[in-house]
Amino acid sequence: MDNKLTIAPVAEWGFFTPPRPMIIAGPCSAETRQQVLETARGLSALGIHVFRAGIWKPRTHPGSFEGIGSEGLKWLQDVKRETGMFTATEVASAKHVYECIKYGIDLLWVGARTTANPFLMQEIADALQGTDIPVLVKNPVNPDLDLWIGALERLSRAGIRKLGVIHRGFSSPEKMRYRNDPGWRIAIELRTRYPELPFFADPSHMGGSRDVLLELSQRSLDLGLDGLMIESHCNPDAALSDAKQQLTPEGLHDMLGKIVVRDSDTDSLDYKEGIEDLRARIDIIDDSLLDLMKKRMDISSRIGLYKKEHNVAIIQTSRWDAILETMLEKGRKLGLSEEFIRTTFSAIHEESVRIQDNVIGGKKE
Ligand code: PEP
Ligand code: MN
Repeated sequence: MDNKLTIAPVAEWGFFTPPRPMIIAGPCSAETRQQVLETARGLSALGIHVFRAGIWKPRTHPGSFEGIGSEGLKWLQDVKRETGMFTATEVASAKHVYECIKYGIDLLWVGARTTANPFLMQEIADALQGTDIPVLVKNPVNPDLDLWIGALERLSRAGIRKLGVIHRGFSSPEKMRYRNDPGWRIAIELRTRYPELPFFADPSHMGGSRDVLLELSQRSLDLGLDGLMIESHCNPDAALSDAKQQLTPEGLHDMLGKIVVRDSDTDSLDYKEGIEDLRARIDIIDDSLLDLMKKRMDISSRIGLYKKEHNVAIIQTSRWDAILETMLEKGRKLGLSEEFIRTTFSAIHEESVRIQDNVIGGKKE
């Protein structure tokens, strides 16, 4: 089973011209021809070349505005004809793909609810076979990196090379500042595994409200992502979907003007010397961390033997709860995040249990 992704450089798409970041903007939904064209004119005047608009909308409740349907594809053709912008929309079925091909849509994206469904992903991949349309895959609604990668693999197997991703955050039962949990760790993991994959962030769906778009956009670019997909509407408050998170083209212009775009690398000698020194220090600390980890696991192994001799079960939850509580408390004082402490110590605990389990089961560590 060869699931290696073959990824074409984004320059081959022919849409985006430097400098970074690449921008895709447009309304959540195409509502009327007038709204689509007015928004596109505003965005085009800002030098934005790729226009998004949802034609088929996956809404939580029936009876909400579920998109204008194929008629809206003609409006996207009008946008292209009048402004020269490239057009993008969301597909969630083979029928959507065929319609987009028929109307010459330039770029497709797969929404979060669809990425989470392998049947639909396969259907979309099959419908795309033999085309060369660029496709951006949003993360699945749940924080499952493999599901996200699996969706990319299905498209890749269907011969789609112009592939990219959009990080729009994950559904979360917890109430928080943002509509969706940014879960940056998963995005960073994907970026690390496929550094050549064009990577967009969608601060609109991640944030859910206008006032957090700047901070989320800045964070995405600081983490090294390549572009932004942002919702923009000529009259956001009257939008039929996602009214709270859309910006007017002028609002978008102001917001983009405030973003600090940092170089992904630089040739400056000063910088290179500074970063080498800091990286060397990190390498030394990582080395010590490994040595400490090894020492800790050796003790776990001895504890395993000791428990075996005394016929005691491996897991004493009270002991683990106490360790975690202490570490969380210490971590808090040191300014380390709770998520980091939990993830790190859970991984250490898991490995420790595995080692003790092997010792008790008689396997050699
Ligand atoms: C959208 O981009 O309009 C959309 C529905 O987004 P998501 O799939 O991220 O919810
Ligand atoms: Mn939306």
